[in-house]
Amino acid sequence: MSVVLVTGGSRGIGRAIVELLVAEGHRVAFTWRSNEESAHAMEEALGGQARAYSLDSGDRGRPRTLVAEVEGDLGPLDGLVNNAGERRESILAMTSDQDWDALIDGNLGGAFRCCRAVLPGMMHRRKGSIVSVSSLSAIRGVAGQSAYSASKAALLGMTKALAREAGRRSVRANAVLPGFVATDMTSGLPESIVTFLRQDECLPWGVSPALVAGAVSFLLSDRSMGMTGQALIVDAGASA
Ligand code: NAP
Repeated sequence: MSVVLVTGGSRGIGRAIVELLVAEGHRVAFTWRSNEESAHAMEEALGGQARAYSLDSGDRGRPRTLVAEVEGDLGPLDGLVNNAGERRESILAMTSDQDWDALIDGNLGGAFRCCRAVLPGMMHRRKGSIVSVSSLSAIRGVAGQSAYSASKAALLGMTKALAREAGRRSVRANAVLPGFVATDMTSGLPESIVTFLRQDECLPWGVSPALVAGAVSFLLSDRSMGMTGQALIVDAGASA
């Protein structure tokens, strides 16, 4: 059993990760940003096996206090899942500075600050696994996603550099790259775009939040002790 912090765990892929980790017997902390009530309802639904904390990825100081709170409540963190993320669509020529900054700072800066907050403890204890939820969009061009793709590709670069920095202290850093997953994030996409995103999938069932959670759980666990700095693609074969 270990202690894991999952950012953006209140719905979608993050919620599936929290549910799987609880089912596996871990002590789990997860974060919410906008809906405190539903986060507490989720705590209850999970029988108190997961605890909710607030986090806005843009808040510079919050990750340090968050990690202190979680470790005070649940014990030293063994795992961090950087899952919180936001998607905004616009072609590059029409992308505002505001949208660019929000995606780079939220998706990339938020993960950076959470890594920075957990690393001193993990490196001191010589134990830890960090998993960042990137995207297939990091390595495959999707029109309208230049800022989102840039944030997710940079997350991969950060993961690889971190793997080199922290490996000697037995701390691992990996990323998962989900393809299309039906969640609130993708619910507003036009049918034609969903068809485009899914057309190259090999598997008829596609990718569910639970299937992404399975890959995250593997990367957190000792079953992946031979892996660091890697990108695990979970896309039902879309990039095969
Ligand atoms: P979702 O249903 O929209 O959930 C996003 C989660 O991130 C929510 O818990 C949300 O919290 C949190 N969040 C968003 N912006 C935040 C911010 N600025 N600060 C703190 N928390 C924030 O999305 P999802 O589809 O589950 O996506 C989860 C991750 O997977 C994201 O990083 C996304 O980029 C990635 N991903 C998704 C897909 C896909 O097809 N769905 C594909 C590849 C990668 P609130 O509920 O409080 O807003």
